[in-house]
Parts: sequence; structure tokens; C-alpha cells
Amino acid sequence: MAKRTINKVAVIGSGIMGSGIACHFANIGVEVLLLDIVPRELNEKEQAKGLTLEDKVVRNRMVNDALTKAIKSKPAPLYHKSFASRITTGNLEDDIAKVSEVDWIIEVVVERLDIKKQVFENLEKYRKPGTLITSNTSGIPIKFMSEGRSEDFQAHFCGTHFFNPARYLKLFEIIPGPKTNPEVLDFLNGYGEQYLGKTSVVAKDTPAFIGNRIGIFSIMSLFHMVKEMDLTIEEVDKLSGPVIGRPKSATFRTVDVVGLDTLVHVANGIADNCPDDERKPLFVLPDFINTMMENQWLGSKSGQGFYKKVKKEDGSSEILSLDLNTLEYRAKKRASFGTLELTKSIDKVIDRWPVLVGGKDKAGEFYRKTLAALFAYVSHRVPEITDQLYKIDDAMKAGFGWEHGPFQIWDAIGVDKGLEFIAAEGLEAAAWVQEMRDSGSYSFYSVVDGATYSYDRDQKSQQKIPGQDAFIILDNIRKSKEVFKNSGVVVEDLGDGILNVEFQSKMNTIGGDVLAGLNKAVDIAEKDFDGLVVGNQAANFSVGANIGMIFMMAVEQEYDELNAAIKYFQDTVMRMRYSSIPTVVAPHGMTLGGGCELSLHADMVVAAAETYIGLVEFGVGVIPGGGGSKEMALRAADTFHKNDVELNVLQEYFLTIGMAKVATSAYEAYDTGILQKGKDIVVVNKDRQLATAKAYARIMADRGYTKPIQRTDVKVLGKQALGMFLVGTDSMEAGRYISEHDKKIANKLAYVMAGGDLSEPQRVSEQYLLNLEREAFLSLCTERKTLERIEHMLKKGKPLRN
Ligand code: NAD
Repeated sequence: MAKRTINKVAVIGSGIMGSGIACHFANIGVEVLLLDIVPRELNEKEQAKGLTLEDKVVRNRMVNDALTKAIKSKPAPLYHKSFASRITTGNLEDDIAKVSEVDWIIEVVVERLDIKKQVFENLEKYRKPGTLITSNTSGIPIKFMSEGRSEDFQAHFCGTHFFNPARYLKLFEIIPGPKTNPEVLDFLNGYGEQYLGKTSVVAKDTPAFIGNRIGIFSIMSLFHMVKEMDLTIEEVDKLSGPVIGRPKSATFRTVDVVGLDTLVHVANGIADNCPDDERKPLFVLPDFINTMMENQWLGSKSGQGFYKKVKKEDGSSEILSLDLNTLEYRAKKRASFGTLELTKSIDKVIDRWPVLVGGKDKAGEFYRKTLAALFAYVSHRVPEITDQLYKIDDAMKAGFGWEHGPFQIWDAIGVDKGLEFIAAEGLEAAAWVQEMRDSGSYSFYSVVDGATYSYDRDQKSQQKIPGQDAFIILDNIRKSKEVFKNSGVVVEDLGDGILNVEFQSKMNTIGGDVLAGLNKAVDIAEKDFDGLVVGNQAANFSVGANIGMIFMMAVEQEYDELNAAIKYFQDTVMRMRYSSIPTVVAPHGMTLGGGCELSLHADMVVAAAETYIGLVEFGVGVIPGGGGSKEMALRAADTFHKNDVELNVLQEYFLTIGMAKVATSAYEAYDTGILQKGKDIVVVNKDRQLATAKAYARIMADRGYTKPIQRTDVKVLGKQALGMFLVGTDSMEAGRYISEHDKKIANKLAYVMAGGDLSEPQRVSEQYLLNLEREAFLSLCTERKTLERIEHMLKKGKPLRN
């Protein structure tokens, strides 16, 4: 990556995208200047206060209102509320000169060429030569925007297309203008990946670029197919959702959230500006969409779209679905297909495709038809929108949340099978696909020595995809670098003396086989390696201990086995802490209960910024039993300082468990005491997380890692603390904030974290606390209400409050 330093950026326009982008730069520690226009009129409140158009509060009203609204929105655009202080607001009249102080100006104003050009003309008066200047346009050709600007401006100008919401969607399209300096593109490509945590994709300056061109095609092609196949919207959403690795909102619900008007705007743009697109007729809106547009059934923003939420007479609400034939709303119908049933036991989405396309029912037909259209379409987009097929896959995964891109899916069902489906639909793939086949290449991708290669149309051969050296891709090395395997884990050699242990269980739950795998991994690492990482690249790090197993033992009243199982969990996390090699845990996504406890016991945590971590055991009627309760008592004790009110400190840690707090980002986990400053770190790009974790394990080993000595000096407060907690839980129950059973669980936790009912503060060992923790956990497992909570979680996936 070319060397440039970004300390400060200016974001011009504070609407949905501008505010979101400003927040994301604040997330990564960059100072932001956010500017918007000055209002032309006073609003009622301002008039009532006697303000004038010259007052600063009025002049900055647009930007301040927009930013405040964004910060309050859900899901949160900031990793941590306090990061808002990194953003300074202002307006385009009084503060525009300040853009001379920034390293990068990002334009995010309304999607109108005339306005954007005017904004650039004004900005050029103050912009220092050499400053990056980019536009977030979703569709205006980049080449038109810099017309009339200086050479220096044009050399540093290009499109940088973030997706909404800017924090969460990973796609970052970079679109060169005619004169963009290659150094600028190279820098942005690297910066997007390393600093912004995005998947950077350099696209060509074609309408809607890559993500939206393919994404909108895919939706429009479905719009035309639903009626032809006589499918309901529920059926389409069932077929195009999580079962194929796409978001839960699938197709129609996604359109409702995004807004039909936004979709239509982009679709029209493609229809108007892509005269040579072979599927142009598909971008013409079908009648039902036109009617919906006329009726303003735009989705969530107008209260109804493909779905509509209504209040029933009894006050409860119901979601109705639009019948595409009658265009009337009706009760939701359950959608079910035999073919989908066949995939229920297939965990990996990519392995489901061959079964899905082989289906004999309507579902099978649906997949064959939609894939035929998609495959043919993407093949024709190379080289129109990109020279590299993998960029189409990258864009769809990062921008639309697809688990696999079109070419990966095509590989999964077989290139020849895909060609058959295309022919059966009367379509044609681009000639290069046949050329690839004729050359003896049976796939679009291949893996050689742990690296991914993809077919290059120009070179007529597989080429290594650049930029992957900063990543470790477990899918690529799982087989070739396997050191150990059981039904719960695979242990891989990451190279340079570091091992990785990867969970393989459903939703990465931690049961006996995973624990055995962790122990084995430590054994192997202690013998032949220098360090151990616990990391995986599934959607979530781990949803916690296998509560199904706990439930069975508790129902059968096999308390000795249950005791042994909990002890095994505790011993395993303690082995992670007290081994002769450094251990690094790399949580990401949901990291709950047991997954969190494992993180608490690592020598270091390298967390992805998007980590939702917490001790949620109360939700299933127990306390953390894998060392979590002990560890929080220990951490509280370690934070006691002279003159602190120790009880207050302990209470904070108690509440982290008692309120089942789950951090909504890794940064929030520092507040809950789960991550520790000075020890644990956050990585913005999840794709780089394992490589970073490995590097830290290596550094710890190199600096001379010595097995720590078990702690026997944990200060516990005994009765003093217990008394306070019991009074607290009593009043919480009396005030009906918690149920009787909540109180019972909280009191058990209080007993553990106070170190029992010792008459005065004392120093105890970790094992002493672990024993209390295990006893408390076991006794809760004998409670009917705890079993009801566990059963509810297993059946419904949600906590029960009883
Ligand atoms: P928005 O309507 O929410 O915000 C537009 C902003 O432009 C407002 O803050 C407005 O005050 C400001 N503005 C209006 N007139 C102006 C003028 N004359 N000079 C300067 N500023 C002016 O729009 P948005 O959704 O944030 O979109 C902004 C840009 O991002 C557009 O180019 C859009 O195509 C693109 N984009 C939007 C999305 C999305 O999902 N909303 C996604 C990707 C890209």
C-alpha cells in the first residue's frame, strides 16, 4: 500500500450515509469534520426562542440533528458512544475552509450531478493539493463529476462507495475516474481493508458499479419470476433466505427495509444507462411493482410494502403479506418445500446447493431457474464491470450479505451442471466460460498451498488472488494443515510454530468433544509448538456451552456426571490459562456464555470489532459455571484500589453477569470487564483477525513465555458483600424488577462472588472459587424453573423469564 497517513477526514453531507460514514471513521480513531448546508428558514422552535439565521445553533442545525439521529439509531453506527467526541460538526459556509486541514474529503451529498459538481467547485477553493477527494455516489458516473476541476484534483479523485449501514456492510467499492492516480487507488484499496475493516473492490465506472448491478439484477429477475412460477412472497423469502446463506430478510423483506423507491431508482438507472445489457427487459418494472409505487407501498418507511404490520382487535399485532395476484394484503401463509427438508441435516450452506438444484418440487425448479439467470448474467459482466470474476463474488458477499458469491455457488454445483441449467432456460453463458471448460479447467476457483486462485479470462488460466497474504483462510488449510481432529474440533498448523484450534460443532457450541479437542490442542502445542490460537471463521465464535447435554443430565438427575462435565469445562479453561505456551482467543460475532468464558481465560484476546460478547447464563437459569463467575470475582478483586469502595467495584462485575450484559461491539466489552485494557486488543477487519492473533501468539512466545503460577491471593469480601447483594436482590424482587427465580440465581452468584459467607475479607485461591461456582451451578440445575428456561432456549432460541 502506498504510504499516506489519514489523521483527519472531512465528510460533506450528513444524511443517512454521511453520518454513518462519519461514525465509522470515528470508530477507527480518525478525527472527523462533518459539514452540511445552512438552513434557509427558521423552524418553529427556533422562532419561539427568538433565534435568527445568523445564530450558530441554527446554522449547524442540519448537521447536528442528522448526527444526533444517526447516533441514536439501531443498530448503532458507533462501536462506543464516547467515540462521538471524535466528530466535529459545522456548515458549508462558515467552516468550509477547514477542509484545508484534512487528509481526505468524502462527498456524501444528495445524488444529483449538478449539486455534487457545485460542491466540488467550492471544495476545490480550500482543498490542499494532494488531499484525497472522493464521492460516495451510488450511480453517477465518476467521469462526469470531476469535469472542470484541476489536474491535482482529478488525480486524487475517485468514487468510494460505502454501503448502508456503513459500519456493518463490508463492501467498499473504489471506482477510478479517468485521471485517478494509481497510487490513490492502491492506497484506498489497502486502507479500506486494513483500517476501515472492509472488503475493498476496485470496480469499473459502469452503472451501479458491481454490487448493485448484480444485486438489483438478482432481485429484478425474481420479481419477474414470482408470478411466472406462481410463488407467494413467503415462499420466495423462504427459498432465498438463510437456507442458501442469505440474510434472514431474504428478498421481499429486504426490499421493504431498503425502500422500494430506492430499488426502483437504481433499477431505472441501469435500464436507462445500460443499452447493451442482454437482460435489459428484466430491469423494466413488472406491473405489480408499478402499482405498488403508485400506491406508495414503499416498505417500512411508508408503513407497508410487501409486508404490512397491523394491529388486531385484541391489541396484538400481526404481519400480513401482499398477494401479488390480487394486490391485497392477507394473513401470512407458511411456506414449506420437501427439498428444503432434505437440507436440514446439511450444516454447511455450500454443501446444500447440489441437493437444492436436484429437487423434484417447485423449490428445485426455482433454484435451477434463478441460478441459470444469475450465472449467465454474471458471466457476461466479465469484463464489462470487472476483469476478475472473484470481485463479483467479493462484492455480493460483502455488500449483500451472501455467504457465497455466484461463481462459488456455480463451482459447488459444477460448472457443467450450471451450463446445462443455463441452456435449459434458453440462455447463454459468455464465451469465456466454454473456453475455460475447453482448456480443461473444471472450476472457477482452486486452492493451491493454502492460497486461493481464480480463473483469469485474459490470461486463460487460474491466477493467485492478490492481497491474501495478510489473511489466514481456514477453509483453505483445514485439510492440508490438519494436526489433530475429533468430532468437535480441527487443530491446524498456522505455520511459524503456532497452532489453531477450530470448533466444528453446530453453532460452535462447546460440549465434551470440543473440550477434549482444546485439551489435546494444548498438549500438542506444549510438546511441539510455541503458541495456540483458538479461532474460527464461522458466522459466530460460539453461542456457548452445549446446554442440550446439560439439560439431559439434569433431567435424568445424573448429578455426578453433570458435576464431572462442569469440572471438565472449568479444568479446560484453567488449562488454557495455565499452560506453558501462550494462548490467544479470537472471538467474533456472538460469543456467549462458555465462548465468553474461554476468552476470559486466554493470555490475550484478539477480538473482532463486531464481537457481541457476554455471560448470558442467567437466561438459562444458571450462573457462569466454566470459570466465568470465578473470573469476574477475581477481576473485581484485582481492580480494588486503596480508598476504593470495594463493594461498589464488586457490584459492577456482579451486574455484568446478573444483567446478562452483552456488548454490542468489542469496545463495549471493555466497559463490562470482559475485555481488559492493556492486555486485549480489537481488530477492525475480521478477515485479518486470525493472522493478527497468530502474530501476537508468536510475539508472546518470542519474548519468553513462562507458565503463570495459579493464583491463591484473590481477595473476597465474604459476608460484607453477601449481605449487600442479598438486600439488593430482595428489593429488586419486591419492586418486581426480577422474578423469584431470578433472585434465587442472583443470590447463588452473590454467594460465589463474595467467596461464600466468610466472616471477614480473606485471600482465597482460584480453585476455591471454582468449587463454589460449580456447587452453585449444580444446585441450580436441580431447579424446575431452570430446566424450563433451558428447555425454552433449546426449543425457541430465546430466553424465558419465569
Ligand atoms: P440523504 O438524503 O440522507 O442525505 C443527503 C445530504 O445532502 C443531506 O444531509 C442534505 O442536507 C445534503 N445536501 C442537500 N443539498 C445539498 C447541497 N446543495 N449542498 C450540500 N449538501 C446538500 O442521502 P444519502 O442516502 O445519505 O445519500 C448520499 C449519497 O450517498 C448519495 O450520493 C447516494 O446515492 C449515496 N448512497 C446512498 C446509499 C443509501 O443506502 N442511502 C448507499 C450508498 C450510497
